[in-house]
Amino acid sequence: MFRQLNIGVLALQGDFQKHIDSVCSLGHSAVPVRLPSEIEPMDGIILPGGESTTILKLMDRFGTDVAIKAAHAAGVPIYGTCAGLICISTEIETGSQSREGQTPLALLDATVTRNGFGTQLDSFETDLTIDGLDDGVFRAIFIRAPMISKLGRSVETLAIYNGKPVLVRNGNVLASTFHPELSNDLRIHKYFAQICDQR
Ligand code: GLN
Repeated sequence: MFRQLNIGVLALQGDFQKHIDSVCSLGHSAVPVRLPSEIEPMDGIILPGGESTTILKLMDRFGTDVAIKAAHAAGVPIYGTCAGLICISTEIETGSQSREGQTPLALLDATVTRNGFGTQLDSFETDLTIDGLDDGVFRAIFIRAPMISKLGRSVETLAIYNGKPVLVRNGNVLASTFHPELSNDLRIHKYFAQICDQR
């Protein structure tokens, strides 16, 4: 039986609307969330791409970071894409455009380098083979993408590009360095919805 999920998409900054559209296209409900009180009732939370410095700053201001950590501790699945992945990592390495002193949420045991794949001009698309996804390759879009430089042992790598993990999972936490909401392909959102459904 189809269980309709209610997914919260962090909407403080960045590419949240496309994630909402993707989740809704699967027949689930998706709502923008900003405040701590909006996080708790959700079946899953997506942190979108955008500017991790801005998203982290706003989460800190509103207390949304604490609420997302509490939701994670209670078993709510979390999916971070691009800047969202940076926000949930354990350590942000100082790249050329990094600002010192920002503390990510540490929900995913990973060290990341902001803009590790280069600048806006180095943005690219590529076909990825993804563990657990049927029906062929996934056309992935990378925009000023972070690079995962170190990954905890318990974190599973689901897709690799140029020798680097680009889609990873640790239990209820999923993270991609690319933007699945920009591809005309709902399989990764569906995969995340399945994690939320199995909770
Ligand atoms: N480079 C951005 C950052 O550091 C992430 C880019 C993106 O989300 N597309 O936050």
